[in-house]
Amino acid sequence: MAIDNTKLVNVGRSTKFGMGAVNSVIQRASSLVFDSVADKKLATKNRAEGELFYGRRGTLTHFSLQQAMTELEGGAGCYLYPCGAAAVANSILAFVACGDHLLMTGAAYEPTQDFCHQVLGKMGVTTTFYNPTVGAGIRDLIRPNTKVVFLESPSSITMEVQDVPAMVSAIRAVNPEIIIMIDNTWAAGVLFQALAHDIDISIQAGTKYIVGHSDAMIGTAVANERCWAQLREHSYLMGQMVDADTAYVAARGLRTMGVRLKQHHQSSIDIAQWLSERPEVARVNHPALPSCKGHEFYLRDFSGSCGLFSFILNKRLSADELATYLDNFQHFSMAYSWGGYESLILANQPEELNAIRPVNPVDFTGTLVRVHIGLEDIADLIEDLAAGFERIG
Ligand SMILES: *Cc1c(COP(=O)(O)O)cnc(C)c1O
Repeated sequence: MAIDNTKLVNVGRSTKFGMGAVNSVIQRASSLVFDSVADKKLATKNRAEGELFYGRRGTLTHFSLQQAMTELEGGAGCYLYPCGAAAVANSILAFVACGDHLLMTGAAYEPTQDFCHQVLGKMGVTTTFYNPTVGAGIRDLIRPNTKVVFLESPSSITMEVQDVPAMVSAIRAVNPEIIIMIDNTWAAGVLFQALAHDIDISIQAGTKYIVGHSDAMIGTAVANERCWAQLREHSYLMGQMVDADTAYVAARGLRTMGVRLKQHHQSSIDIAQWLSERPEVARVNHPALPSCKGHEFYLRDFSGSCGLFSFILNKRLSADELATYLDNFQHFSMAYSWGGYESLILANQPEELNAIRPVNPVDFTGTLVRVHIGLEDIADLIEDLAAGFERIG
């Protein structure tokens, strides 16, 4: 696990943003007052470059977080959204028009897939879903009107790690104009450096590890030089913004994200290894374990793991077994989302997964369990999981 903690502590902090405090000020504003006609003119001219202009363009609190994210992910700028789903939708919308074609991973976060079907479809933008393990074969799916290729690695729920360098070079070779985006939430934007891999836009549900405490929602999109101006202006015109309090909470989360991730990394790998030796478990989908699809790409491209992974049981649990199993954990709560300090658990039957996997049906018959390993002591979590196995015989 290699994370630049010094950078996480320092990015986006300055006298300008903190005004003497360690953290940036919370500047809540719609109207920002100009002292003179000349000041108003200057603010209007530089409104896109982080000059105080109008609340919807952001305040010092937002600028501080934007600067931090831009530096962390090595981009030209960062746009902030009210949640991760808004970051995904608006990043895509900024670059497609009626008649365009989008390539979307067939194991994407479910609402991302639904957005393609329900919103893009209505606009005359067609989507082809591709197998997340397609690699350089993505080239065969590119059409003359393909505008955007969207990646998510590892995949939601089934955790396939994508061969990003092979995909990116294959796409660039066919058409360098195509905009490549990635949902980089699992890597928290720091465990996989998307822009350094020649991806144009790195998107995150900051709701997860940036906030880190399951108490706020925010989305981020960091763009490179060629995409930043268009992403910024389109997202602005879509009315996308986040309140200053949430931006503050997200920036504060960044300061401890490195140490939190280090523990999530260690605990999740320890528990994944313990699970891989259990007779009840058919396979563990943890990118850091050889049993996960694309493990070799994780080793090559990632600097560490977060706390989210899944495992497949040897058998398919009946409805009763599933309830007994899930209802009685002491430390694993049932909830959507992840990335907080607490452990979570959810389960899916194969057919439920196949309903959201248009081109890549699962290759197992047992029940899949997805866990988020939080910051509790590993021994307590293992005891809890062991008791769960007892309950299902
Ligand atoms: C949670 C999540 C999102 C959506 O984020 P919200 O803040 O809940 O809107 C997008 N992508 C992935 C991979 C996620 O896990």
